[in-house]
Amino acid sequence: MEKITLGISTCLLGENVRYDGGHKHDRFLTDTLGRYVTYRPVCPEVECGLGVPRESMRLVGEPASPRLVTIRTRQDHTERMIRWAQQRVKALEKEDLCGFIFKSDSPSSGMERVKIYSEGGMPEKKGIGIFARIFMEHFPLIPVEEEGRLHDPLIRENFIERIFTLKRWGAAVKAGQSKGHLVDFHTRHKLLILAHSEKHERIMGRIVAQRGDYSSLDDIYRQYQTLLMEALRLKATPKKNTNVLQRMMGYFKQQLSADEKKELQEIIDQFRMGYLPLVVPVTLIGHYVRKYDQPYLKMQVYLHPHPLDLQMRNHV
Ligand code: SF4
Repeated sequence: MEKITLGISTCLLGENVRYDGGHKHDRFLTDTLGRYVTYRPVCPEVECGLGVPRESMRLVGEPASPRLVTIRTRQDHTERMIRWAQQRVKALEKEDLCGFIFKSDSPSSGMERVKIYSEGGMPEKKGIGIFARIFMEHFPLIPVEEEGRLHDPLIRENFIERIFTLKRWGAAVKAGQSKGHLVDFHTRHKLLILAHSEKHERIMGRIVAQRGDYSSLDDIYRQYQTLLMEALRLKATPKKNTNVLQRMMGYFKQQLSADEKKELQEIIDQFRMGYLPLVVPVTLIGHYVRKYDQPYLKMQVYLHPHPLDLQMRNHV
């Protein structure tokens, strides 16, 4: 797979663009994820014309329409920032972004829970950075996260899974829109989607299998992508993963000995109870898939949704 393109707040790459001339370098993003990703850095405050160093800012007013105001001299940069952000998101349309990683807590780049000040009052953590809001409204289907939240292994795994899936989806769309291609994509992703949402998998399966009105492929592809991104945003809990693992085990009824079935069942149970990470049952099933050349499971993205060395499924 060619590298994935992600937008990122520039200071997370170690660039000295912060108001105080510093950065917020995040090593996981550059050194680990960076092996698979090409970043498109965006620093709203520098790119809209405020220099480095600059006076620090904060959000002031109502959470739905806050102002971006400097702390000491009370200069209001809201209009400047909005004008620039509206042009910047248009330019980003050309980049084929599969995700965006925002710097948390920033009045320009923070994705959620940014401090917002009322006149003279205490701050409430209810704000969204001005650029982050415009970006998310413009690209509602693109996965977004903040560097701070990505330290949580479950959130990190979910985000990585979404960006790799969106990349595969983009490649499938580029290969040409047809019923055959959509059926193929859905078949390969069926178990991955199931691990997040049975309900979405059912609806998506119906969309793919519908007869007759397959005339508006654009609409069907749009509908499918919306559901795909919506489904993957939902947590893949141990219970949902266990259902998928049991389903996969069912494909080996004939081949596995009683001992092998018992061992696999025990490993799945230990994963469900939180004693083993997901990588363990998945690796054992992957071994049986290769050994018995199981054709349906062999094509399932669920077995390898992202590179192993990212170690996304190694946590309990
Ligand atoms: S948080 Fe956003 S605006 Fe602030 S330095 Fe980083 S990229 Fe620039």
